[in-house]
Amino acid sequence: MLPERSEAVVIGGGVMGAAALHYLVELGCTEPVLLERETLASGSTGHCAGGVRTLFSDELNVRIGVESIRRLERFEAELGQELDLRLWGYLFLLDNAADVSRFGEDLALQARCGLETRMLTPLEALTVVPQLETDDLLAAVLCPLAGYVTPDLVVQGYARRAAERGAHVEQSCAAVRVLVEGGCVAGVETAHGTVRTERVILTAGVWSRELAATAGLDLPVTPERRFMFFTEDAPSFPRELPLTIDFSTGFYFHREGAALAFGGREQSLEELAPVAARRLPALEELGVRSSWWGYYELSPDHNALVGAAASPAGLVYATGFSGHGFQQGPVIGEHLAELTLGRAPTFDLTSFSVERFADGDVRAELNVV
Ligand SMILES: Cc1cc2nc3c(=O)[nH]c(=O)nc-3n(C[C@H](O)[C@H](O)[C@H](O)COP(=O)(O)OP(=O)(O)OC[C@H]3O[C@@H](n4cnc5c(N)ncnc54)[C@H](O)[C@@H]3O)c2cc1C
Repeated sequence: MLPERSEAVVIGGGVMGAAALHYLVELGCTEPVLLERETLASGSTGHCAGGVRTLFSDELNVRIGVESIRRLERFEAELGQELDLRLWGYLFLLDNAADVSRFGEDLALQARCGLETRMLTPLEALTVVPQLETDDLLAAVLCPLAGYVTPDLVVQGYARRAAERGAHVEQSCAAVRVLVEGGCVAGVETAHGTVRTERVILTAGVWSRELAATAGLDLPVTPERRFMFFTEDAPSFPRELPLTIDFSTGFYFHREGAALAFGGREQSLEELAPVAARRLPALEELGVRSSWWGYYELSPDHNALVGAAASPAGLVYATGFSGHGFQQGPVIGEHLAELTLGRAPTFDLTSFSVERFADGDVRAELNVV
C-alpha cells in the first residue's frame, strides 16, 4: 500500500536507488519509499557485467572504486546478504602506443592510491590467460583489486535490509512526475496515487532524463544498447579468469560459472564475433547459449551526473554512469542519502554536478569500457 506521505522518496530500484534507500535508513530517515516501475534490478543493473575495478583515469573514480570494493567485501557482515564477489582482477589488453603511454600515467595514479596495478608484457599476459592472441599486443595492465559480483544480490541485499528497518519498496509502481510547488519538491505522482514529500532521489537510470524534465531539470543522459552473450562450459580456461578487456575494441569476457560471459560495443553477435575471435580464437569453439542487452546511460564526458538540483529544492539525482555505475553504487548511494538529509558528505562529489557543463568544467573519464 503506497503511503500518502513520506520523509523521502527514491525513484528507481537499480543499484543506485537500492543503495540510497539503505543509506537513508542508516542515517535515520524513517520509512522512506522506493518506487520501481517494474521489478528491482530490472534496468541497467540487472543486465550489467557486475564488474568492479579501481583502474580509472580520473582520481575520484579510483577512490570511489576502492571504497566500493571494500564495502562489497564487508557486505555480508554488514547487511546479512551473501555475495559471490570474485576479486580475480581486471586485465586490460593494449595494442597501440598511445594507450600504453596513457595507461602508464594511470599506473602512477594507482601507485599514489596504494594499488598494486602493474604493466605486463604480452608474454606475461599469456601466462594469465593462455587462450589470448597476443601477436599485435604491445602490453597489458593487470589490476588486482578488481573483479565482479552478481548485481541482483547487491540490490536485493540493500533493499531487503532497508525494508526490514521500515522502508517501503513499491514494485510495479511507476513514477509519472515529480510535483513542484513554489520552487520546492512537493511529492511524486505515481500510477497508483500521489506520495507527498519534500525530498526526492531520482535514480531512474537512463529514464531519469524524462522524469527530471517533469521538474524542470535537464539531465544530459543518453541511452546506448550494450549486449552480453553467455557460452556453454569452457573447462580449458583458467578457473580464476580476470575480467579481460581488449581496450581498443571494447570486447571483454569473464567467467560465468563454468562458462564464459562476453560483450562489446557491437549491436549483434554477427558483428561482435569477428572482433572477439581475433583476440580470443578459442571462443569460436564455444556455442552461445543465451544473451541479453541493457542500456549504458551515457553522459557527455563519461563521468557520473550526481548532485542536488539548484531547482527545485529537495531534488537529488544520480545517473549518466557511462558503463561504470554498478561499481559506484555503494559510495554514490550513501552520498545521495547524505545530500537528501543534509548531512556532511563522506566524499566530495561536487565535481559530478550537472552544472559542470554550464560552467565549462567537464571532467572526462577515459577508461570507459
Ligand atoms: C551490458 C552492460 C554491462 C555493464 N557492465 C558494467 C560493469 O561491469 N560494471 C559497472 O560498474 N557498470 C556496468 N554497466 C553499467 C551499469 O549497469 C549502470 O551504470 C548501473 O547499473 C546504473 O544503475 P542505476 O541504478 O543508476 O540504473 P538502473 O539499474 O537502470 O535502475 C533504474 C531503475 O529505474 C526504474 N525506472 C525507470 N523509470 C521509472 C519510473 N518512471 N518510475 C519508477 N521506476 C522507474 C527502472 O525500471 C530501473 O529499474 C553495464 C551496463 C550494461 C548495459
